[in-house]
Amino acid sequence: MDTVALILAAGSGSRLGGETPKQFRLLAGQPVLRRTVSTFIRHPRVDAVRVVIGSNDDADYQRAVGDLSLLPPVVGGASRQQSGRIGLESLMEQEPRHVLIHDAARPCVPSEVIDRVLDALQDTPGAAPVLPMTDTIKRGDGRGFATDTVDRGDLWRAQTPQGFEYRQILAAHQAATDRELTDDAAVASAAGMPVRLVQGDVVNIKLTTMDDLRRAEQSFGYPEMRIGNGFDVHRFCAGDQVTLCGVAIPHTHGLSGHSDADAGWHALTDAILGALCDGDIGEHFPPGDGRWRNTDSAVFLADAAKRVAAAGGEVAHLDLTVICQAPKLAPHRQAMRERTAATLGVPVGRISVKATTTEGLGFTGRGEGIAAQATATLRFYQGLK
Ligand code: MG
Repeated sequence: MDTVALILAAGSGSRLGGETPKQFRLLAGQPVLRRTVSTFIRHPRVDAVRVVIGSNDDADYQRAVGDLSLLPPVVGGASRQQSGRIGLESLMEQEPRHVLIHDAARPCVPSEVIDRVLDALQDTPGAAPVLPMTDTIKRGDGRGFATDTVDRGDLWRAQTPQGFEYRQILAAHQAATDRELTDDAAVASAAGMPVRLVQGDVVNIKLTTMDDLRRAEQSFGYPEMRIGNGFDVHRFCAGDQVTLCGVAIPHTHGLSGHSDADAGWHALTDAILGALCDGDIGEHFPPGDGRWRNTDSAVFLADAAKRVAAAGGEVAHLDLTVICQAPKLAPHRQAMRERTAATLGVPVGRISVKATTTEGLGFTGRGEGIAAQATATLRFYQGLK
């Protein structure tokens, strides 16, 4: 095997906010890791790709890239340097001639940068893409004042992928376990390996802040937006609770229906299917089909989420209005948002749940049943058929 790409994705860094490590965040509708890995899989001079993941990341990894043609992942260590060494040691069986080591958090790497690194490896054992320093570089005195201006003529900002002769960089890493070094080029230099500097690219940014994520997203162009609406009604029957957005709410009646009669999730499911132009809930889950009797409506909503993902899209926003005279929904609204978010795998901040009465008018006003209407906004970056 000539060239293997090692993608370092073991970091748990989340300066972007939220619980999800940045390599699993969505970037223009796809997980960051999937975009990064796909660039290397598609590159004609890369023979195989392996990802180094964190010890708790297997489920996220499978969701993000489980269907792609990759070497099995390996679990990294406590630092980037340890993860790099563990990744290199895991390739002893393949023993490639060259290895490219790349940060998962650089999903916009142009294939030309990969080419320049591989070209340099034809006659040198190490290569790293760099950018010149364009700003004037000041040295501070530690108290917030400038002392002198540093000559920037031979200063460079290092990017990845960095490329190496496999056996040499493996030995360099194994010899550097007693030191903390910031990148693989530093590990190589410490072992006396020459590292040629090749031209990087300004679009090859490392995602660190929310601003970086937005900048990277812009490089994929404007998404296509789709909006769908849904409406549903269920009649009250004997009982002591209703289920709305998966939340059991005590009431003087139950709701009658073939499934669990969750009018909220039925309206949301139809709104999503409407935005996809993909039929309606009754077509995918016919009431005449005994399989769906008393079904938890989470099944319908999760199915709609799967259809969105299969079409290359993501849920940008959902807005639900539940219409009834009683029960009072305000105390349950947050739980309804959270259950919906968890079922769809969408941040709760993208989901709105509202409630209204009809001032005693009409069938909801007379307390005969509950109605729900919903709007779904979906985003697609690849464009829909
Ligand atoms: Mg219904």
